[in-house]
Amino acid sequence: MSVGRAIGIVGGTFDPIHAGHLSMARGAQRQLGLELVLLIPAGIPWQRAPKASAQDRLAMACLAVGSDASLRVDDREVRRNRPSYTLDTLLELRAEWGLEHPLWLVLGADAFLNLPTWHRWSELFEQAHIAVACRPGYAFQEKDMDAVLKNEVDRRLQPLSAVQGPAGAIVLLDTPLLDISSTGIRQALHSHRPVGDLLPAAVLDYIESHHLYS
Ligand code: ATP
Ligand code: MG
Repeated sequence: MSVGRAIGIVGGTFDPIHAGHLSMARGAQRQLGLELVLLIPAGIPWQRAPKASAQDRLAMACLAVGSDASLRVDDREVRRNRPSYTLDTLLELRAEWGLEHPLWLVLGADAFLNLPTWHRWSELFEQAHIAVACRPGYAFQEKDMDAVLKNEVDRRLQPLSAVQGPAGAIVLLDTPLLDISSTGIRQALHSHRPVGDLLPAAVLDYIESHHLYS
C-alpha cells in the first residue's frame, strides 16, 4: 500500500473530546502510517443536539491536541453553515489533497454500524478508506450490521497489507479498548463525580471555567 502522505480523518461531536477519541486517532496514525490526522468537530451534527456550542467543542479539541504536530484540528465543519455531512468534508479534502493520497476515515465501531443512516453513505467509499476502531459494547459482527452494510463489508474488508489505492477499503484497527464516552463524562460532571484521566487536563479546565455540563 502507498502509505506516503496518507491522511486520517476523525470526525465527531466531541461534546466533549476525550481520551477515547485521542487514543483512536493516535492508534490509527501508528497502524496506518498516517502523515497527519485531522480531528474535525461537527458544527451542526444533524443526528443529535450537542450540549456545548460548536465554538466550545472546537476550542476543547484544540486544547486536547496541544502541541502534538501529528494531530490537527480542522474547523471546516464548524465554519460550514449547514448540517455537517461527512461526504461534503471528504469531497473537500479530496479536492485539496488530490486524487492519489489515501484518505482514511477513522470510525469507532458504533459509528460504523450506524453508517447506513448517513447522508449518501455509500459514496464515502469513493473518497476514502474506512478504518474501524473497536469500542466496548459494540462488536464488529456481521449479525449486527444492516444488510446493505454487510454487503459493503463482504466486498471491502481486507487486511491492511492488501490495501491499495486512495479509497474504498475497510480495515479493522487494533486499538486499545477504552470504555470512555462523552455521554458518560457529561453525566459524571453533572453529578460532580470525578472524571480523572478520561480527558486531558486542559479540556477539563476549559469545561470548569466555562461552566459546561454542570
Ligand atoms: P457521545 O456519548 O456524546 O455520543 P462519544 O464518546 O460517542 O460521545 P462522539 O463524538 O460521538 O463521541 O464520537 C466520535 C467518534 O469517536 C465516533 O467515530 C466514535 O465511534 C468514536 N469514539 C468515541 N469514543 C470512543 C472510544 N472510547 N473508543 C473508540 N472509538 C470511540
Ligand atoms: Mg457517540
